Amino acid sequence: MKKTGIIIASVVAAVLIAFAVYDGIFSKETSTDFFAMDTVVSLKITGKNSAASAERIKEEINLLDSDILSRHNAASLVSKLNSGNTVNNAEFAAYIKELISVSQYSGGAFDFTLGALSDLWGFGSEPRVPDKTDIDKILLNSGYKKILVNGDSITVDGKRTVVDLGASGKGIALDRAKEILETEKAKKAVISVGGSILLYGDGEFTVGIRKPDGNVGEYIAVIKTKAACVSTSGNYERYFEEGGKRYHHILDPKSGFPAENGVVSVTVISESGLLSDALSTACFVLGVEKGSGLAEKFGCEAVFVTDDKNIYATDGAKQMLTVNADGYTLAE
Ligand code: AMP
Ligand code: MG
Repeated sequence: MKKTGIIIASVVAAVLIAFAVYDGIFSKETSTDFFAMDTVVSLKITGKNSAASAERIKEEINLLDSDILSRHNAASLVSKLNSGNTVNNAEFAAYIKELISVSQYSGGAFDFTLGALSDLWGFGSEPRVPDKTDIDKILLNSGYKKILVNGDSITVDGKRTVVDLGASGKGIALDRAKEILETEKAKKAVISVGGSILLYGDGEFTVGIRKPDGNVGEYIAVIKTKAACVSTSGNYERYFEEGGKRYHHILDPKSGFPAENGVVSVTVISESGLLSDALSTACFVLGVEKGSGLAEKFGCEAVFVTDDKNIYATDGAKQMLTVNADGYTLAE
């Protein structure tokens, strides 16, 4: 090797070692769990500002809940809307517009205005099977079509129309967390808000699909994906039993009863947290065939687990999926 070649090679090697040392010293990992948005949030972040990023994300998720999404805080934008006020806020309006589009494309299977119906079922308080006449009264006076949008101004029209962003708030939190990770230049992160997970950074990630009748941590399949948001809606997440029958929390806006189409869980993979979360709920109501079409319409992939132990996946999701457990098979 010529002398200049040796010098260049040494400089390159020195720079690489310097980067490696820099990375080793400054690339710290922070893990933390906390309770927010009615669920467990867990953060695992790698990068030189990991502790500060985790702190900012925790603050951001708490603020998002208290100032925007919460139905329990009278000062939140959702509560203001639900008490008859017009809300003028560009960011909030952007969420509502995207959710209206999911509602429209799902043919109304996704409906973020059924807060009164969820309350009637007593999810979150004292669950019970309501009277059909009470269900019908609410359905008559609610529905996403009663949301009026004028630029960035949102108003609710309809006495029993109660905006409930329970099906998409976890995903919105992930989108906000992602922005912070970008500004803090995090290297890698895995953030979960209930059943919605943000996978951030280079390389491949593995996410398990939970065994429906199993314990937390028992998986029937794994998804391998690059950075993405992965949300799961399952009928095992929130339910009660009455007269030997199980009633879960994802309601079919057509009947006002829990959606019943053989689907036990749906996992949606998307670049957007909001879409992965909203679509997992929407696909749960729509079932395998229509749900797959809806996910693909939004450029997302979906995996359905049904009560006859079949797993259905969109074409893109099939490439990511490995089924690894007892009795479950991937349907063609
Ligand atoms: P997720 O766990 O993301 O599937 O969201 C479920 C939550 O969304 C429920 O607890 C309700 O607050 C709300 N929800 C129930 N049914 C629907 C529906 N058909 N469309 C939109 N939101 C719903
Ligand atoms: Mg959802």
